[in-house]
Amino acid sequence: MAKIKFAVIGNPIEHSMSPEIHEYFASQNKLSNFSYKKILSTEADLENDISKFFSCGGRGLNVTIPFKLSAYKLCNQLDSTASRCGSVNTLVKDENKIIGHNTDGLGFIDDLRTKNISLVKSKILIIGAGGSAMSICSALLNSNQEVNISILNRTIVNAEKLISFFKDSKLEMYNKKDSYDLIINTTPISMSGEEIYLPMDILKNNPTCYDLFYSKETTSFQKWAYNHGVEKCFDGLGMLIHQAKHSFFIWNGITPDTNLLEDNLRFI
Ligand code: NDP
Repeated sequence: MAKIKFAVIGNPIEHSMSPEIHEYFASQNKLSNFSYKKILSTEADLENDISKFFSCGGRGLNVTIPFKLSAYKLCNQLDSTASRCGSVNTLVKDENKIIGHNTDGLGFIDDLRTKNISLVKSKILIIGAGGSAMSICSALLNSNQEVNISILNRTIVNAEKLISFFKDSKLEMYNKKDSYDLIINTTPISMSGEEIYLPMDILKNNPTCYDLFYSKETTSFQKWAYNHGVEKCFDGLGMLIHQAKHSFFIWNGITPDTNLLEDNLRFI
């Protein structure tokens, strides 16, 4: 029987645990003809690689760093989760149209809930202003939890672009006088293991910290936070599992069981 093809496209892509998660969901639901691959692409080849994947029978594609904003522009149609945040992480082909969704924000909120992290009236700092920062901003602004969000990014003009996309008074540029309840690192600084240079005063309220990057070991951002006295800093494995759960539903119409998966993946 021909395989039903799924994949994740990004650069770098080697670190991705999406294949393990989707293959686990498939076997849990007895989808035996399921395949999920990693595709390494470049900005120049992205359009061609996406269309090749679908023209060769691909059913669903996840998009990861750094292509979430570029892939958004290549979609023929967007669902509300993508149009609200200007970025996509899940593509599906329907007849001749590529339809873009974004499940990152939903996955992030699900993981906060699982970890009992309250958002009510929180002051939140998002570090980064790329594709995942856009989806997280959108999810937080739509959470009805009276949050206030600040953006700190290496390239100021990209932070300004993000803020002007949402046009929401609860969203502003980072101000060094402020203190935060929750800090979310959406940059890939943990990926390279490079030295972390972030303003120390962001930690003055002993915030809960969250690194979107995930690894079986403690990430560089987690180490940085713990070394500077933070008590709780999570990595993004839980979010990865929950965003995958929502993508799996879009493609297969089944909500997989995620119970115990995070613990199991850490011990494989
Ligand atoms: P993007 O490329 O869209 O955005 C990256 C952002 O990080 C940009 O704001 C960029 O700033 C900034 N940045 C890049 N390199 C550095 C650096 N060396 N120092 C400081 N800032 C930097 O990537 P994504 O938003 O798609 O992904 C970001 C990270 O989040 C990745 O590590 C990815 O694996 C992780 N992720 C995890 C998910 C999960 O489910 N756990 C889901 C989505 C993402 P500038 O504007 O200056 O270029």
